[in-house]
Amino acid sequence: MTDDISGVTEDTLFQSERYGTYSYKVPVTAGTYTIKLHMAELYWQVAGDRTFSVSVEGQVKLANVDLITQAGRFGAYTVIVPNVRVSDGALDIAVDPSKDAGTLSGFAIYSADGKLDTSTPPTNTNCKAYVGITYDDGPVNTTAFVNALKSAGLVPVTFFVNGTNIGSRPGAIKEMLTVGQVQSHAYTHVDMGSYSAAQVRSQLEQNNTAIVNAGAPKPTIFRPPYGTVNNTIRQVASELGMITITWDNDSQDWNGAATTAIVSANDRLQDGQVILMHENQTNSLSAIPQIAAKLKAKGFCPGKLDPKTGRAVAP
Ligand code: ZN
Repeated sequence: MTDDISGVTEDTLFQSERYGTYSYKVPVTAGTYTIKLHMAELYWQVAGDRTFSVSVEGQVKLANVDLITQAGRFGAYTVIVPNVRVSDGALDIAVDPSKDAGTLSGFAIYSADGKLDTSTPPTNTNCKAYVGITYDDGPVNTTAFVNALKSAGLVPVTFFVNGTNIGSRPGAIKEMLTVGQVQSHAYTHVDMGSYSAAQVRSQLEQNNTAIVNAGAPKPTIFRPPYGTVNNTIRQVASELGMITITWDNDSQDWNGAATTAIVSANDRLQDGQVILMHENQTNSLSAIPQIAAKLKAKGFCPGKLDPKTGRAVAP
């Protein structure tokens, strides 16, 4: 294989591959590492013929990647996975194909600042997976939710709030911050599918101002009302420093789902996935203790939403 690889100068790294479903166990001292994963599509010519996921230390860091889409044929695709904590003496990297076979050209492991970092222990070494627990449309019933989340230990969560609701509840945003993050759900709860860029911008800027004025950090994640997404919405959110996300799993709490159904929907979450619930739905309030118990029984933990990917990750 001597085809020229675009995007890099060190072509040789990408010109071989290990192919299939496999995993590596690299012996390392306990510490925090940064991993660089190197990939290139050396066989298929069009998108859709190969997709695979890569997990590092049991967490999916790259989900259903298609190298043709990312970098084209023979294009170098490099993913950096920072802050990987290893406490069991071995760094685990696993490649799982979803279409055809997985392919990894190589990887490199860097310790933090060139030395091992053992100063900060991981927040919870028992978590097998992290899931994103989210509540939209508040602040409405904030105190009840915050108390229930605290007493069940279901933290952290993410609230996607509407600025129009903050007005009458100025203290609610600070209450939310005691159990997680506050992010944007637009100023009013409006479908912006036909909005101009200027109209979207107005909605998002007003909401950011309301959130910041109530004492929370400037939002980095935007979830549009009704999950309505288009390029204008994505672009404006991006210009304002936010990624646009929806959800992996809709609890249907807004549609009258029973508490047991909401608990089951949470129970179906896979590592990194995010569920949609609402802070103005009493069945979602009632579901909190059982959601917490079921996650704990599986060794799953609530995570924070990564502002780059929108996926649930270690807090
Ligand atoms: Zn909503």
